[in-house]
Amino acid sequence: MTTLKARIELFAGIAALVLFLFPLPAAAAGDGITAAVTIAPQAFLVDRVGAGRVETLVMVPPGSDPHVYEPRPRQLALLSRAAVYFQLGSGIEFENAWMGRFVAVNPEMKICDLSRSIELLPSSGCHTGSGPDPHYWLSPRKAARMAENIAICLARLDPGSAELYRENARALAAELSALHEEISELLAPHRGRAFLVFHPAWSYFAAEYGLVELAIEDEGKEPSARRLKELIDEARRREISTIFIAPAFPAASAAAIGDEISARLVELDPLSGDYLSNLRKAADRLDEDFRR
Ligand SMILES: [Zn+2]
Repeated sequence: MTTLKARIELFAGIAALVLFLFPLPAAAAGDGITAAVTIAPQAFLVDRVGAGRVETLVMVPPGSDPHVYEPRPRQLALLSRAAVYFQLGSGIEFENAWMGRFVAVNPEMKICDLSRSIELLPSSGCHTGSGPDPHYWLSPRKAARMAENIAICLARLDPGSAELYRENARALAAELSALHEEISELLAPHRGRAFLVFHPAWSYFAAEYGLVELAIEDEGKEPSARRLKELIDEARRREISTIFIAPAFPAASAAAIGDEISARLVELDPLSGDYLSNLRKAADRLDEDFRR
């Protein structure tokens, strides 16, 4: 941890220097609000609720893994302009490691916890710690609650537009609820079925639709030879013919298991900013997999 801490100090130092050398134009934020978020799915929600009045800054760029990503100095410089940080608040490593530093870089920034009043599941094993499973944004019903939390925080920052934010959150929640119904209907015939993923990001999605998520990754690492053999046996027993992988999680073991059980590898991205169509696509791919 000492090295990480030392690196955090170094990055913050460089960020301060970058900001000093290249001050950002005051007009960049206009009269709108700059909001920082950890991952792209949050940016989708904030963009919809903020409807043109809020500009988002995604700290973990698409294709990067929020369990290990370290922000660039330029990002820290941009963050120093943010009025609010919408944190996932569910114990994802990126926030655990960096929130303290972000607050030090920008002490005026409000921190808004999007997991407020959302029930979290116990850890799915992608974490070495004992905290909750952090991937709750992949439940559309929980995403609707996140939108409400965003509206509450934006209303406090910008009371003049409070009604607009509440209205936008209500409209988005209705859309998410419709999506939930659509996915429920599509996956209802497959209740109890299991799917195999590399990184266990889909526990909340699985819980919503009565599916079983099996993960290859073990406590954030490639599995041991023994665990790999157990997984292959379980995958055979459950007649699994697809292994779901994601761009941010390259996995040699997924390909190895795929070869062993003649399963194809299909992409299921937990971090897409195109939230609604991505969840629809995930449901379609699972449905297709279960019909094979
Ligand atoms: Zn994860």
